[in-house]
Amino acid sequence: MEEEQIITAFLCFWLAVSGAALGSFLDCAVSRWAAGEPGFLKGRSRCASCGHTLGIWDLIPVFSFLYRRGRCRYCGERIPAGCLASELAGALALAGLGLRFGPSRELAQWAALAALLLALSLTDREKRIIPDGLLLAAAANRAAWFLLLGQGKGEILAAAAACAIPAALLALVLVFEKLSGKEAMGGGDIKLLFILALYLGWAEMLLTLLAACLLGLVWAALTGHGKGSALPFGPFLAAGAVLTVCCGGPVLAWYFSLF
Ligand SMILES: [Zn+2]
Repeated sequence: MEEEQIITAFLCFWLAVSGAALGSFLDCAVSRWAAGEPGFLKGRSRCASCGHTLGIWDLIPVFSFLYRRGRCRYCGERIPAGCLASELAGALALAGLGLRFGPSRELAQWAALAALLLALSLTDREKRIIPDGLLLAAAANRAAWFLLLGQGKGEILAAAAACAIPAALLALVLVFEKLSGKEAMGGGDIKLLFILALYLGWAEMLLTLLAACLLGLVWAALTGHGKGSALPFGPFLAAGAVLTVCCGGPVLAWYFSLF
């Protein structure tokens, strides 16, 4: 193996471990936030059923869940599978970004965005809310890296072009809602698309939307969700954006080669 490949493999391993730990922390914090607990970012982790404080061996992301077969060691109650899903999502997202960008400043920008996207996916899952604070943090992260990466006019023009996509979508949604009197898309989803437009080019935005819709359809088909109540779209947009950043390049290159 080349030295560069060894460094990337090492980086991705530790990013996966950190991503799983981040997913575990965020899942716990968002569950407490959704339950209205004060100080949801602090305090030791507890079992949601019996309230037993969890020890170090109960807190190893993914492995604790699999080893205990998804049950609490103290009361035997099932641990929500959503916790494992958050850990896996965090691990996959950060490892994927590590593979895409390698050790670089771009990686730091995208890893911070991925952490915020995971947090807002969880609040959307729990409460159908995408908090403005998380969206503002994502915008601030982009602004900071715009300066740190020494970017300029080209990136501003690209962001303006990409914003045309959520703007067009917003216009469509408003017209549809006016005519039908039904809610077509949550306001939080549109705001999230505007934030993503600060990071992605217009073609990547379209790919993100396409990927999000496909993931949503597959999820609805597999789980039977979304028949009675609308599926929260934030997690799918977030997953679509990370997928597009990690592996959208070849897809777009192929598509544009057709013309
Ligand atoms: Zn328990």
